[in-house]
Amino acid sequence: MDCVFCKIVTGEIPSDKIYEDEDIIAFNDLDPQAPIHFLVIPKKHITSLAQIEESDSALIGRIMLAIQKLASENNLESYRVVTNIGEDGGQTVPHLHFHVLGGRAFHWPPG
Ligand code: 5GP
Ligand code: ZN
Repeated sequence: MDCVFCKIVTGEIPSDKIYEDEDIIAFNDLDPQAPIHFLVIPKKHITSLAQIEESDSALIGRIMLAIQKLASENNLESYRVVTNIGEDGGQTVPHLHFHVLGGRAFHWPPG
C-alpha cells in the first residue's frame, strides 16, 4: 500500500514513536504546529473518519482513550484534537489520524 502512514506502521518510514499497542500508534508530527503536536492513528488503513464503519467503533473509542492518556502524560490540561477529512478539510495524508496539539493557546474559529 502506497501510504505514508502505513509505511510508518511497518517501520519502512522512520518516526518518532511515542505510543504503540496492537491496533494503534502515535508519533510526533514531522512539522509541528504547536510545542506538542503528535498524531494518533489506527494501524489498519482507514482513509478518513468518513470511511469508518460500525465494526470500527471499539477501535475509535480506544484511540480516544489513547489520546486522553498521552495528553495526560504530556501534562496537557488544555489541548486540541483535530481530524481533517478530505481536501477542503485540509487532509494531506489519506490515512485516518488525529492531531493532538498543545502547549499554546489556540484560536477559534480555525482557519
Ligand atoms: P493532515 O494535513 O492530513 O491532516 O495531516 C498530515 C500530517 O502528517 C501533517 O501535520 C504532516 O506534518 C504530517 N506528516 C506527513 N508526513 C509525515 C511523516 O512522514 N512523518 C511524520 N511524523 N509526520 C508526517
Ligand atoms: Zn495507510
